[in-house]
Formats: sequence, structure tokens, C-alpha cells
Amino acid sequence: MGTLDLIPPGEGIADLGPFLSSFPSARPLLVSDYDGTLAPFRRERGEALPGEDVRSLLTEIAKKGGEIVILSGRRAEEVALLLDLPLEIWGSHGWERRTAGGCITSPPLSGQNRESLKSLRRELSVFPEDALEIKPISCALHWRGRPRVQELYALREEDLASSARKEGFQVLPFSGGVEFRLPLASKRTAMESILNRKSPRDPVCYLGDDLTDEDAFEALRGRGLGVLVAEEPRPSAAQMWISPSSVTTFLALWRDGLKGRGERIG
Ligand SMILES: [Mg+2]
Repeated sequence: MGTLDLIPPGEGIADLGPFLSSFPSARPLLVSDYDGTLAPFRRERGEALPGEDVRSLLTEIAKKGGEIVILSGRRAEEVALLLDLPLEIWGSHGWERRTAGGCITSPPLSGQNRESLKSLRRELSVFPEDALEIKPISCALHWRGRPRVQELYALREEDLASSARKEGFQVLPFSGGVEFRLPLASKRTAMESILNRKSPRDPVCYLGDDLTDEDAFEALRGRGLGVLVAEEPRPSAAQMWISPSSVTTFLALWRDGLKGRGERIG
């Protein structure tokens, strides 16, 4: 395993030492996005699986008593199937919560919101079905490896975005597509809820790669460590940048920081 190529983008965190040194006397929480962070992107979204090394490290962290929460834009059940580990998952940007045991809860949707989602799905029906991801409070259009979808969206972007906004949707670009989401949940509100159940002295970290992760990084500022996972550093509310190939090193450091804690599962 190589060295960790991290840089502090201006917040002064040069290494993880001080952060990890608090682990023995606290209850550290690792929150992570899924796609592009724990699992590499794939054209076919159902094929985006974490490497065995990532899976093993997450298992070891949990065994050592490290709390882990996955926070994804995907549906919680979908992440659970792909990740295949008994971890708590907040899906659909925090709208759905799945316990490690598999129980999913989400707030009820109003009739008006249901109608807005139906109308959005009608608008998006011009796109191929496999480019659409239908979720409880949003629809995402994916064009990774689908240049024609991107071209078609470019042609219709103005009309689509305008009618989606009229229906109350936010139009949110992400790496490889765009999402139309009702403003009922975001990674910011999810991170705030996650933080609310932790003691202020517990170290919390969030690993994320995309624009929607910036909400979580902002919610974490002053309270925990935001880590941007990206091939190149970019302006971000995260305090640290690591490349995707360094995620395993980061997780190994997290595991080693938990040395001496009791085993919880397995
Ligand atoms: Mg991601």
C-alpha cells in the first residue's frame, strides 16, 4: 500500500495524525458516499461494485467498533445490494434510511409531490429508460458512456429545466448527468441529522466525490473532516483531498486508528 497523497486545500490539515489520535477516547464515525468514492464509476450503474480491499477494510473498521454510515444519492436498497455489507445506509440523499438489519424508513410524500414526480417522469420519457434513475423524490438522467443522451439533453435542457423548476424541482448537475430533485432532502440535511445524534467530541468524517457532496462538506465544517475524493483537487468545502486510488490507504489508516477498541461484529 503506497503513501497517502493528500493535500490540505487551505484549511491547514496536513495529516490525519491529530484527527486519528482522538479515536481511542471517542466514538469515531465514518460517513461515506458510494459512487466514485467507495465504488468506481461504471457505464452500467448496476455494475458499480467496491473492490474486495474496500469491502474488507469497511468490515474490519466495523469489527473494531468504528461506526460507518453510507450516504448516497442512490436508493438505499440499491446500495445495500451492491455493497453487500451490514451497514447503515442513508439513500436518496438522506430521504430513505436503511438500518444495518435491512429496515427502510422514509417520510410520506404529499399528493402534490407525487403529481410533480409523475409529470417529471412524463417529461423525461423521451430519454432511453436505461439512462433514467427513478427515485422517491427525484429523477436522475445519466449520460456516462451515453453521448447521445447528453446531446439530446443539451437540445432540450432549457425547456426541461424550466418546466422542472415550475414543478418545484431543483436542477442539480452531477458527474455524468443531471438530477431533478424535490427540495425535501439533501446531503446537507442528512449530514445535519447524522451529526445531531453524535457527541460533539466524536470525530466525524465524510468522504465524497461529487457536487452534491459539497452540501455534506459544508454541514460538516467546524465539526468534522470533509475529504474530497477526486482525480484532481478542485475548489471544495472539504478540508482534504485524496485520489480515488488512496481511498484504501485512508480506510486502512482509519482502521489502524481504532486499534485497541473492542470488536463489534463478525
Ligand atoms: Mg459519488
